[in-house]
Amino acid sequence: MKKVFFVCVFFFLATFIGCSSEKKDVTLSPDNGLPYFFYPNDLAKQDSVAANLAYGTYFTVHPQGAYKLSFDVDPSYTAPFLQLHRVSFNEDGTRYSSRRVRNLKATEINGRWEYSFVSEESDLAIWATTLVGEDHDYYSGRVDHFLFEGTGLYSSSFNLNLIVTGSFKGTADGYDENDLAAKLITSFRNIYQGIQIDTIFIRYAEFHPKVGHLYPDNEPWLAGTSSKDVMLNELGGWPEKTIYDALDLVLVHRIDESTGVLGYSSLFSANLGGGEGSTIVLGTHMKNTSTSETWLKADQIVETAIHEVGHFFGLRHTTTTIADFTGLQDFSSFEDGIDDTEWCSSVFGYALTKRKSIIPTDIYVRRPLMPKVYTGATSYGNLNECPDASNVMFPFVTDVPITGFSKGQLEIISKNLTLIPH
Ligand SMILES: [Zn+2]
Repeated sequence: MKKVFFVCVFFFLATFIGCSSEKKDVTLSPDNGLPYFFYPNDLAKQDSVAANLAYGTYFTVHPQGAYKLSFDVDPSYTAPFLQLHRVSFNEDGTRYSSRRVRNLKATEINGRWEYSFVSEESDLAIWATTLVGEDHDYYSGRVDHFLFEGTGLYSSSFNLNLIVTGSFKGTADGYDENDLAAKLITSFRNIYQGIQIDTIFIRYAEFHPKVGHLYPDNEPWLAGTSSKDVMLNELGGWPEKTIYDALDLVLVHRIDESTGVLGYSSLFSANLGGGEGSTIVLGTHMKNTSTSETWLKADQIVETAIHEVGHFFGLRHTTTTIADFTGLQDFSSFEDGIDDTEWCSSVFGYALTKRKSIIPTDIYVRRPLMPKVYTGATSYGNLNECPDASNVMFPFVTDVPITGFSKGQLEIISKNLTLIPH
């Protein structure tokens, strides 16, 4: 009996020593609840992502996307290993499990540690980071000037699909769905320079082969009230071969969740197929109070669509709003970080005074929605005077005519479009 015992102990020790001699082959899983996410080609400052990179931040990867994550060398430390973990969330996004998929050694280039990798996923997936330091523990050095870049193999053109829901009665200035679609594609082609928009389809929710029966054509669709899902994800990825990969613009009567909202998209929802993140929601009306609404003109709907599609491809607001801070929880990213866009200090100043009253929200996979907001309030000062008021990605409706995207914004859209299967 004794003999057997000693044999076992010896075997156990040998195994243990054998394992620990393989340097860096430990797995450090995310241990912090993954409070922050990032996405490719975003230039915002993202101090919170940098501070949490070692312990767990998450991001989206697309099939065959080529990515590079980098930050400044910390001369007091040896380069950490970047471990990447494939993450699965439970249904309400409150729990997750992770499996390590990469263990990457840094390459030092011009004072920066760089980690390059290609996603071999067959579909959009969520990965998370950890950094493993010298002692097989979470890296505790500095992560400065964090940057995440990505390019993909897909084309720089895409189609639009206008999905009409419920009892659509046209716009306030008399555009029917055909007129509106024509105006949409003309305006998109003007503003999305360098990106080819081939065509726009029109489909009706009532005729959807699977869920059409849920969308009666004789009542106005109130997003968030008529059905629970304010984004109407089930309509995204229209089940026809030529339309499936089009960007789905779902036209509803109004967004009923809150007042003053003209449209909704998720930040870098980046899904041209079906399911979560595959839709952009646009109202023909805007809710003012529970009993009143404003009927919108075609111009307002089209401008909102162009703005929301910017978010879809990863553009932030030129100036961060309180709602953005609430969702993203990163006060370092007060503007988009793009060199050739302006930002507005009066919007930012107001956000700061409200900072203490902001309630944290669960962001996990359900990334924050980015609404285009109408505000008559003077609490932000005169928004017409903001230097970024004429940019497509200014977060509020003003009297200033929209001039378009900057070159820097268009570059981000172009790169991210090539990552998204379509
Ligand atoms: Zn927005």
